[in-house]
Amino acid sequence: MATGGLSPANIATPLRALVKRQPNVRVVLAGASGVDVVGRRLLLEDGEVPYDTLVLATGARHSYFGRPEWEARAPGLKTLEDATGIRARILSAFEAAEREEDEARRRAHLTFVVVGAGPTGAELAGALGEIARHTLRDEFRRIDPSAARILLVEGTDRVLGAYAPALSARAARDLARLGVEVRTKTLVTDVREDGVTLRQGETEEVVKARTVLWAAGVEGSPLGRILAAAAGAGTDRAGRVVVEPDLTLPGHPELFVVGDLALFTHQTGSRSRASPRSRCSRGGTWRGRSGRGSRGAPGGRSGTPTRGAWRRSGGPRRSPRSRG
Ligand SMILES: Cc1cc2nc3c(=O)[nH]c(=O)nc-3n(C[C@H](O)[C@H](O)[C@H](O)COP(=O)(O)OP(=O)(O)OC[C@H]3O[C@@H](n4cnc5c(N)ncnc54)[C@H](O)[C@@H]3O)c2cc1C
Repeated sequence: MATGGLSPANIATPLRALVKRQPNVRVVLAGASGVDVVGRRLLLEDGEVPYDTLVLATGARHSYFGRPEWEARAPGLKTLEDATGIRARILSAFEAAEREEDEARRRAHLTFVVVGAGPTGAELAGALGEIARHTLRDEFRRIDPSAARILLVEGTDRVLGAYAPALSARAARDLARLGVEVRTKTLVTDVREDGVTLRQGETEEVVKARTVLWAAGVEGSPLGRILAAAAGAGTDRAGRVVVEPDLTLPGHPELFVVGDLALFTHQTGSRSRASPRSRCSRGGTWRGRSGRGSRGAPGGRSGTPTRGAWRRSGGPRRSPRSRG
């Protein structure tokens, strides 16, 4: 959606519609601010909800490594609002390039920097390559969209570092085929209005770019740390809550943390190579097996399609009509 291939209705369904045939499910729109572990109450900004069992799945947000001011210049992709904002930035960059007389400024309009080559960054950069090379082909008169420079910057030595090296190598080849310039072992040291500063070893480089997108880090929602502190559980540096094999918190069979907020360290065998997302998607399976949870807990195998399945069910289309 962030690159214009899908519309919001293709990827999100209102919660009320999803559970309307489950009379024992009630949806409450509210912000949770804390947990009274002893009194078994979820504290809301404007009220509270008592519970017997609490399943916390408040997910994660982007992390700017202590530079929150970068967020306005380099938005991240997590919510529908993020996606529509990014889509507007990308398409207006091509429009600005079409009108720009100055060659250097036109180049900056047509330079896109994606920071972080995990699943989100790699997918974003690849989709940008598809837009530039295919979707927008023949739509402009003064610029050639396929001349856009798409830079994918990654601090470690390979893209998709959580996956097996062979898959990283394949992804790097596919990205190159889509015209994406991959820079590994490269750090972004500054994000400004007019671009980014990159550092590779001792060498610094300033890249003028109108569009910078952030996919370099996430941190758990603040409620994770709040619950962990109240229940005596651990968190990692990113604020994910360390869970038991059945996704409960130690000593609290009534408290579950699932999804992106959970840090599951019990994987063994070859599966430990799976991405954090794959591990998260298995969370529902564990939840279901624990015997304590409700049936139809979110995130089970059948309910959480893999990245590949999402693609098959509606990957980026090339028709310009789908941009709306
Ligand atoms: C661009 C992108 C592409 C992805 N593609 C895939 C894919 O193809 N396949 C795949 O398996 N995974 C994919 N993922 C990952 C997947 O989206 C996440 O793993 C999944 O959404 C995690 O679900 P969750 O329920 O833990 O958290 P979220 O989906 O983040 O949901 C958390 C919810 O909690 C709400 N919330 C947060 N704090 C509070 C609070 N204090 N009070 C009340 N509500 C609160 C938030 O508003 C949000 O609605 C992708 C992620 C991104 C960003």
